[in-house]
Amino acid sequence: MKQIALYGKGGIGKSTTSANLSAALSEKSLEILQIGCDPKHDSTRMLMHGEWIPTVLDLVRKKGEANIAVDEIVFKGYNGIRCVEAGGPEPGIGCAGRGIIATFQLLEKLNALYGDVIVYDVLGDVVCGGFAMPMREGYAQEVYLVTSGDFMALYAANNICKAIARLSKRTKNRCTLGGVICNSANIENEYELVKEFAEKINSKLVAYIPRSPIVRVSEVNRKTVIEYAPESEQADIYRKLADTIMENVPDKNRIPVPMEMDELESLSLKYIKT
Ligand code: ADP
Ligand code: SF4
Ligand code: MG
Repeated sequence: MKQIALYGKGGIGKSTTSANLSAALSEKSLEILQIGCDPKHDSTRMLMHGEWIPTVLDLVRKKGEANIAVDEIVFKGYNGIRCVEAGGPEPGIGCAGRGIIATFQLLEKLNALYGDVIVYDVLGDVVCGGFAMPMREGYAQEVYLVTSGDFMALYAANNICKAIARLSKRTKNRCTLGGVICNSANIENEYELVKEFAEKINSKLVAYIPRSPIVRVSEVNRKTVIEYAPESEQADIYRKLADTIMENVPDKNRIPVPMEMDELESLSLKYIKT
């Protein structure tokens, strides 16, 4: 079982990429479980054709953990992909990270944490102990950083890299950096910038996903690009990402090296045309 996690800044395209990746993986007859680990709880919406599925944490609050059945939290979406949304804590109380782990533990208890690939879609604006928990507890074994060439997106990716660097030195529940995915924001020299960023942090650029209007068209039709526009170039890009990830065997001994703030600023400046 391959357990991969997509981490990145809010709004950068993690859920879009995760859902299309899951859809592309499912075309290979693989059994996929996608778990949304963002309080925004919209990770699986396109796989569920626009339906907002109940979140695990809402149900736990409403019914109590002991009274939840598996079919109340795991829903079959496009091509049989099993979808779960962890949800978030009540605003103002509770820890989102703990909630995510409680969700995984409940899925384990219900024998629902299985599949050929588990895709965790995790928010990376704050890399506090809470949001790092999927890595620390051994669930997110292979992490992919989703970023564009936008400075704040790179900044968030670099912070996640700091957490991975710390956790990849451990012997127990070691997590590895699988690579960097550039989800384009149409920033000048973006490919070169993100590629150099990936190399600087001792990793590699595994995919460059262009910004394409078909993504939004598919979204308003409540489908992934893979389902709505299977013949499109964008769909092939997500299929290529799926191939790359399946073939990727990250080197457990390759520890990522986060950049210093001034280095990151100079790197961004280098690619801005003056
Ligand atoms: P996140 O999960 O990181 O918060 P989303 O996946 O929800 O981000 O994406 C935010 C918005 O960006 C969505 O409306 C989505 O349609 C759009 N988007 C994401 N990737 C692309 C892309 N490659 N091309 C065009 N629009 C995109
Ligand atoms: Fe929120 Fe992180 Fe603190 Fe948990 S550890 S309460 S997720 S900031
Ligand atoms: Mg999201």
